[in-house]
Amino acid sequence: MIDTHCHCDDLLADSPLAVLKRARQAGITSVLAVGVAPLRWPLQKSVALQARAWGCSIGLAYGIHPWWASEMAPSAGLAALSTWLDHERHDTLAVGEIGLDFAPNRPPITQQMALFEGQIALARAHELPVILHERKSADQLLRVIRRTAGLRGVVHGFVGSRQQAEQFIAQGFYLGVGAAITHPRATRLRSMLAALPVDRLLLESDAPNQPGAQHKNAPNEPAFIGEQLAVLAELRGDAPDALGRQLDANAMALFGGGLTQSVNHGPG
Ligand SMILES: [Zn+2]
Repeated sequence: MIDTHCHCDDLLADSPLAVLKRARQAGITSVLAVGVAPLRWPLQKSVALQARAWGCSIGLAYGIHPWWASEMAPSAGLAALSTWLDHERHDTLAVGEIGLDFAPNRPPITQQMALFEGQIALARAHELPVILHERKSADQLLRVIRRTAGLRGVVHGFVGSRQQAEQFIAQGFYLGVGAAITHPRATRLRSMLAALPVDRLLLESDAPNQPGAQHKNAPNEPAFIGEQLAVLAELRGDAPDALGRQLDANAMALFGGGLTQSVNHGPG
């Protein structure tokens, strides 16, 4: 199983390596570590390199999360990402986590938009897929996606409406299935994810955020995504193994390279 969305630099409540070791024991063959801010990219990279040194397979994505949009001028953030990608492009699978968050008390919309659109342009220039954060912003994200030819990516931890899901899928995007699916009361989300085309879904933890129903008061971990797979398989009436293989194939189709290699040469 591939965890397509993990904040590996943020797994410090425990030790990130201990968390990743547990993931490997739970059958997670590969983890995609996503970025949130320039100050955190070096730690994210060093955690990934340490984990690789003892056999864990980790892909890397770099970006500036919309929550950090007021920490820097958009131009400064974009310059930092451009310079970072110039050095790290060979070991980068995606630009993310980027996006728009229009929930209350988030950074000003104009700043978020400038940062987001600039990062989309960088992703296109480097021919990288994007990992999108969406909160009350699906229509604005779709508007940018529709006018950006050739853009590929995933809306991570998707909890929007069926109609929005279909619009992202119509643009060739994937939707990330997070631990929200494990909550029995998430009936609308569950029936939507059961009905969407299986070749458009990715499995993700968003660890240490968004713990599932069985881990409410503890940090989330990549090791737990099997619980999400089990729920999704049951909802869809699929065999978990076959569904897991399909979701891994989806992840490799989107992120390719590093993740494919990691699975082939994984620790088993
Ligand atoms: Zn995230």
